[in-house]
Amino acid sequence: MTAKAHQRVFDRFKRPLSDLRISVTDKCNFRCRYCMPEEIFAADYPFLPQEKLLTFEEITRLVRIFATLGVKKIRITGGEPLLRKELPTLIKMIRQVEGIEDIALTTNGSLLPKYAQALKSAGLNRVNVSLDSLDDERFGKMNGRGFKVRDVLKGIEAAEKAGLGIKINMVVQRGVNDQDILPMARYFRKKGHVLRFIEFMDVGNANGWRLEHVVPSREIVQMINAEMPLEPVEPNYYGEVASRYRYKGTKQEIGFISSVTEAFCSTCTRARLSAEGTLYTCLFATAGTDLRTPLRQGETDEQLRTRIVNVWEKRQDRYSEERLKNTNVLKGKKVEMYHIGG
Ligand code: SAM
Ligand code: SF4
Ligand code: SF4
Repeated sequence: MTAKAHQRVFDRFKRPLSDLRISVTDKCNFRCRYCMPEEIFAADYPFLPQEKLLTFEEITRLVRIFATLGVKKIRITGGEPLLRKELPTLIKMIRQVEGIEDIALTTNGSLLPKYAQALKSAGLNRVNVSLDSLDDERFGKMNGRGFKVRDVLKGIEAAEKAGLGIKINMVVQRGVNDQDILPMARYFRKKGHVLRFIEFMDVGNANGWRLEHVVPSREIVQMINAEMPLEPVEPNYYGEVASRYRYKGTKQEIGFISSVTEAFCSTCTRARLSAEGTLYTCLFATAGTDLRTPLRQGETDEQLRTRIVNVWEKRQDRYSEERLKNTNVLKGKKVEMYHIGG
């Protein structure tokens, strides 16, 4: 693509576009109940056929265009992104795009022993590994496929060995894994990894979400603080989603993503690209904008850029803020989490 002057774009609430989350597959080897419950995502579920997925060249071309609009951070997600064949090749291609400063990956960790080194060599900076319990029985039930805690811990070790930055994400559901909060905090404090607690969200339509199942971050902070005193840490950058704390007297941090009880829409700078090339401007979107068709019909970079600018300039999503006022806000059918990634 010809080099283009950088142009920042802002939405209706003056939020800049600066991050892009790219889902590279809608498939997953786990069946987490809060994301892809087995009874719905069974063996006959119609996942996307290969020809509908954006190719690596198509993804990279879009990343180049997004980069000229001010995107600096890329997160690769899914589904389980490590199920996408040759993923390190894509990382390498994105690494070469001018303007991209940071590439991260969100993964369930089970395939990291196989890929961590290749991902690092390709230019990946960081991984966020999801782990919801240290108890095999509970974890096996939560992931719906009987994967063991050890399978994920081995992935974390592999990422560490490869020299990748690591954060651990735990989604907390009341009555499901709230008893794991303290054991997880103790374990990862000792290991020296940043653990982040995520409030269970009403993404998609399949996970049977109810407000009573959400454990508010402030409750988790109090619980941990009572045993291991915490002190707040200032945000690192505009739009940082986690409230950060550190264990008093140490540099070891811990984070809280209060997506339900303390919405952060006012600084949300993230666009999302689904595996088949649909652009979404909110995790809770009911509709997106197809970029694959114009891409395959031969639109120029400039035409594609104009499409993206038009979408972002019209953006007025602030679903989580609206939900704070009314938990029944959304009438339409939402896009599923495994489809656009977290
Ligand atoms: N498969 C990868 C993984 O699990 O890390 C990447 C995709 S997954 C959809 C991204 C993140 O979304 C994970 O950390 C997962 O725990 C989180 N997630 C999925 N459903 C959620 C929900 N209903 N509420 C909060 N977080 C959720
Ligand atoms: Fe798969 Fe991640 Fe969804 Fe779990 S949260 S089912 S690992 S995509
Ligand atoms: Fe961003 Fe939508 Fe989440 Fe608000 S609800 S923080 S706009 S993704």
